[in-house]
Amino acid sequence: MPAREPKQRSHTFEEVALGFGVDQAIEEANRCLSCKKPKCVDGCPVMVDIPNFIEAVRNGNLSDAAHILKEKNSLPAVCGRVCPQENQCEGLCIIGKKHEPVAIGALERFVADWEAAHIDGSSVVHPKPFGKKVAVIGCGPGGLTCAGDLAKMGYRVTIFEAFHDTGGVLRYGIPEFRLPKEIVDREVNYVKSLGVEIELNMVIGKIHTIAELMESGFEAVFIAVGAGAPVFMGIPGENLIGVYSANEFLTRVNLMKAYCMEEYDTPVITARKVAVIGAGNVAMDAARVALRLGADEVTIVYRRTEAEMPARLEEIHHAKEEGIQFQLLTNPKQILGDDKNRVCGMECIRMELGDRDEGGRRRPVPIEDSEFKIDCDMVIPALGNKANPLLTRNTPGLELNKWGNIIADEKTGATNIPGVFAGGDIVIGAATVIEAMGAGKRAAFAIDRYLRGASLDAEEELSGLPAEKQGA
Ligand code: FAD
Ligand code: SF4
Repeated sequence: MPAREPKQRSHTFEEVALGFGVDQAIEEANRCLSCKKPKCVDGCPVMVDIPNFIEAVRNGNLSDAAHILKEKNSLPAVCGRVCPQENQCEGLCIIGKKHEPVAIGALERFVADWEAAHIDGSSVVHPKPFGKKVAVIGCGPGGLTCAGDLAKMGYRVTIFEAFHDTGGVLRYGIPEFRLPKEIVDREVNYVKSLGVEIELNMVIGKIHTIAELMESGFEAVFIAVGAGAPVFMGIPGENLIGVYSANEFLTRVNLMKAYCMEEYDTPVITARKVAVIGAGNVAMDAARVALRLGADEVTIVYRRTEAEMPARLEEIHHAKEEGIQFQLLTNPKQILGDDKNRVCGMECIRMELGDRDEGGRRRPVPIEDSEFKIDCDMVIPALGNKANPLLTRNTPGLELNKWGNIIADEKTGATNIPGVFAGGDIVIGAATVIEAMGAGKRAAFAIDRYLRGASLDAEEELSGLPAEKQGA
């Protein structure tokens, strides 16, 4: 996929990847073998009909391709940009055994963008939902998918979102240069066009409880509140001025619009030398954002080697191209502050890889007397996220695991409370957009069955028959 020049892009928030043109898309579609038993579909948690949408691209029927995509995926322009396709559909593509797999994600993005540029969606009138009322809590990819699928079946769905804007991590976590807000707006508007209502600034667990939602006429609830609480290391100095969790840093930049630097005076510290702790996708995002806000030097500090870095290869590659530095086999011991309690450095220790742990990864072990100091005036821990207990602690009887995640059935999302379903990061812990969407889709199907009084366990296709045909 063509991309903006690293030097040019490292100081702007413009989208890095530029997408396929028509000729390139058709050429790529021609590589698909139209397998009789396509493996790629098994790798897609929302079961997009990949061979058929690619076939439509090959034949130049782009509006058909868009239609096929949207039958299963309400957010194709998002997925085409941020899904880790190399571990999903593309990871199973048969061509990938010997050559590069078909670029399914890039084709999905191409089709979604083509549709937005050429087809006026506002003219499509969807039937008004008429069925029973369902509440969805959280307006991230899990909630949006469940809401969209239920609305397509005829249910009247309201999404309750704590923030003042939609999209969940798609808007407040993933930076503008990877997923422009315009794309999130477009896909949220599509879900709204299906009849879904969205109530913002609604912190469920504080303003209303789930029991109150049920009493007010909602007959089922889907909880998709994500995993929004940051993890810290617990080392001295984490409360100094100039330490932000990656969550807080990215949320300030994204929701308070620091990415429109000329127009908005966002309250976020900009620093000269930034150290980001961790090497996952969130760490790469935080590092690249810090660079774009004007840092002279940004360093990823990670306790293992490059081979163990959890971030996508593409993100690591882009970060390196833009000049992000890497301090590997390094673990922070304390963050150092000056007399005004501002960050002025970080004491670290060198590590080496020891024996393998239960998961098969080699354990990082400190090398004695190898402490050294990294010069920095901002530190961003990006060590992962965990469940925020705000909703769950105000929902008596809801079963949680030891980490505070909701226990829900893998196939249906059903929790131990009748009529209450859950999915996405709040169930499986911080994961991916498409996994949250897959959970939303499965829950929509199960909620439909629950509201029709059918068994949740029935082995049926995720066909989504209109609700009037199902007696809802
Ligand atoms: P979320 O997207 O977290 O949405 C939950 C929503 O619920 C939020 O809007 C929140 O405000 C709202 N909420 C929370 N509590 C309440 C409440 N009590 N009442 C009402 N609303 C509430 N995944 C990828 O596949 N590809 C990537 O490139 C990628 N990059 C990422 C980058 C960052 C910086 C982060 C943080 C994550 C990234 N992920 C990526 C992970 C992915 O974004 C998440 O797995 C996915 O968004 C989870 O979806 P969700 O619907 O479960 O929750
Ligand atoms: Fe095409 Fe690859 Fe899917 Fe086969 S597995 S249908 S080649 S994309």
